[in-house]
Amino acid sequence: MVSLNQDVLTEKVLAGERISAQEALELYHWRLEQLGALANARRDLAKTKSYDGRGGEIVTYIVDRNINYTNVCNVYCKFCAFYRTERDEDHYVLSLEQIDQKLDELSAAGGVQILMQGGHHPKLPFRWYVDLLQHIREKYPHVNIHGFSPPELQHFAETFRMPLREVIAEFKNAGLGSIPGGGGEILVDRVRKKISPLKINSDRWLEVMQIAHELELRSSATMMFGHVETIEERIEHLQRIRDQQDRSGGFTAFICWTFQPQHTVLKVKHPTGVAEYLRTQALSRIFLDNIDNVQSSWVTQGPGIGQVALKYGANDFGSVMMEENVVSSAGTTFRLNAAQIESLIRDAGYEPRRRNNWYELLN
Ligand code: SF4
Repeated sequence: MVSLNQDVLTEKVLAGERISAQEALELYHWRLEQLGALANARRDLAKTKSYDGRGGEIVTYIVDRNINYTNVCNVYCKFCAFYRTERDEDHYVLSLEQIDQKLDELSAAGGVQILMQGGHHPKLPFRWYVDLLQHIREKYPHVNIHGFSPPELQHFAETFRMPLREVIAEFKNAGLGSIPGGGGEILVDRVRKKISPLKINSDRWLEVMQIAHELELRSSATMMFGHVETIEERIEHLQRIRDQQDRSGGFTAFICWTFQPQHTVLKVKHPTGVAEYLRTQALSRIFLDNIDNVQSSWVTQGPGIGQVALKYGANDFGSVMMEENVVSSAGTTFRLNAAQIESLIRDAGYEPRRRNNWYELLN
C-alpha cells in the first residue's frame, strides 16, 4: 500500500473533501485520537449550518420503540438469536391488541415513532400488512411507522408475487413513513454468503433503497461489523452506501454497531473492542460525506462509550428505544430513559434535543 502524506490527507479531510477508498484504508490505521479529531471536525462541518446555525452544539435523540411483529423467519442468519421456526414453542405473531398496547405505551411516553421489523414469515399475506399499516396510521397519526428492512421488503415481493416497487408503493399508501436500514450488515457478497447465505445480496439491498428513495420514502443506512469481514470490506460497504446516496439521496443517517456474538451460531475469535468500534465509526463519518447524521450506538456499546462516540463523528444519540428484542437476543444491550440520555448528552458538552425521523427538532 502506498503511504500517503499525512499532512496532505489531514488537510483534505479538514477541508471537507471526498476521500478515496485507499485514503480511507490509510486513515483507518492512524492513531485513534487523530482519527477521532478528524471525524469530529467533519461532524461539525456537516452539522454547523443546521438548526439555525446551532448544529455543532446540539446532539439529537428520538423517543421510539421497536415492534418486532413476528419472530418467525426462514432465513436463519448465523448472527441472529432472535428468529424461531413455526415448530418452536416460543414463536409468535403479535395480535393487533398487543400492537395497540405497545403504541398506547409509546404515546403515553411522548414517543413519535415505531421501528417495526420482523422475521421473514412465510405465510402472512399482503392484506395483513396493509391492514396493520392502515390501522396504525388511523389510530396513531402522530406516530411515524419506520418499518420493514430491505430484506423483508424483498421477501414480501417474492411471497406476494408482486413487483417490489408496487409493494413499497402500496405500503406507503397504507401508512409506511420511512424505511430502516436493517439487513445491510456488510454489503459485500463474500461476507453475506458466510453469515447469511439465504438473505438478499448487496445489489438487491441497494435496489430496495433506490426504489424507496424514488418513491420519496427516506431511510437509514447501517453496518454491522466485527465478524468475518476485513477492513477493506468495511470500506467497500461504505463505498456502496456513499455511491447509493449519490444516486438516490434518501439516507437520513448512518448507524454502525458491532456484532453481538452471544447465543448465535456465528463465532468470532476476538470480539470487537471499543477502540475498533470508535475507529470504524470515525472513519464512516469521514468517508460518508453525503450523509448528514451519524448515530452513536450506545445500545450495544453502553452509555459511556455512546457518549465518547459523540467525539468520534456522531451527532445523534439514537433512540430511547422502549423495547429492543433483536440485538438483545444476541447479547448485551443497555437501556436508558429520556432523562438519562439528556444527562449523558449534556455531560458530553452538548445540548440535548428531541427529533423526529427526519431530524427536525421537536422541542
Ligand atoms: S436477522 Fe432477520 S432475516 Fe436473519 S434470521 Fe434474524 S430475523 Fe431472520
